Amino acid sequence: MSSLVTSTGYRYEKAFQKSLEKYPTLSRISCAATFGIPGLDHTKVDSGLCECMTPQGICVAGPYVLITAYCNIKKYREELEKHKDKGDNPARLEAAKEHTQHKSVIYVVDKESKEHIATVALPDCNHVGGISFDGTFVWVAKDTDQKMSAVLFSELQRVIDYGHGSVRYITTRKIHCNAIFTITYKDRMWVGNSYSKKEGTMVCFRVKNVLGVPRLQKEGEIEMPILAQGAMLADIGDKTYLAISVSGGRVNPSKVYRYEVDLSRLEKGKVLKLADCKALETLELPPMMEEITIDPETLAVYTQFESASSPYSAVEGNPCKAIVDRVCISGLKDWFPEVY
Ligand SMILES: [Zn+2]
Repeated sequence: MSSLVTSTGYRYEKAFQKSLEKYPTLSRISCAATFGIPGLDHTKVDSGLCECMTPQGICVAGPYVLITAYCNIKKYREELEKHKDKGDNPARLEAAKEHTQHKSVIYVVDKESKEHIATVALPDCNHVGGISFDGTFVWVAKDTDQKMSAVLFSELQRVIDYGHGSVRYITTRKIHCNAIFTITYKDRMWVGNSYSKKEGTMVCFRVKNVLGVPRLQKEGEIEMPILAQGAMLADIGDKTYLAISVSGGRVNPSKVYRYEVDLSRLEKGKVLKLADCKALETLELPPMMEEITIDPETLAVYTQFESASSPYSAVEGNPCKAIVDRVCISGLKDWFPEVY
């Protein structure tokens, strides 16, 4: 039994049911299972309690599902200020004024039972947009300072066994790109280098373990659309498919652009253009979609949204129009039904 206090369960059952009605694809991508994103209502971090953790990245690491979140107090305060005459916003605003910036966290969920088992504090307060696992290192994408930081999985395991605590970064690498998200595919780690006003890329890195410290060697890149928040690369039969989640703001639907890609055309120093890949129909999902990840063992696909975090859902006045408060789990065939 751990002593941490992190809220669990579904935060917005009714709102999620409405989102299902509005977005038929949402029921398809949550058909295998769901579990509530931990910590949305409150998260114990260091000595404080945070009520505005905003989930970002998701990946599977061995028996665990790892979810990153950051303390979004600036946005939360801003929203409360904007709607300060409504409902219980005044009292919330007073509390938010006292709220200090908490460290970013990783929520650890047991893959089998889908229960939250630990909350791990990271060393910094970065906008931890993505997380991936290469078998040895857990990578955290930090667009705030264009860096990738690595946590040794065995160190994370020790904190998980204890139930709570913090981990160190074994290394932090400056990668000269806007590290919005990260995934692994086969033996490569990829970093989503995307922007809100121009096209970006997803950069392929080879991870070299040099005496226990990972080094990154840049390889080719694939073009990414404006506002790409996550991506998945997966093999079906003898072909490779790419799904890219694109979202911006709490009103517009998220889009998932899908392609058949030929990674043998990837070349160091070059960008593989999406126009040169075979496009499949675009999917529409609720606003504020974040990372998509595939479990390399079970091939289950996990999808995450940030709409149920307090700044976007709990402030009376302007909540997100279609809230998703849970991690959606499905199979690859639910993402690419036309190629099965
Ligand atoms: Zn906080």
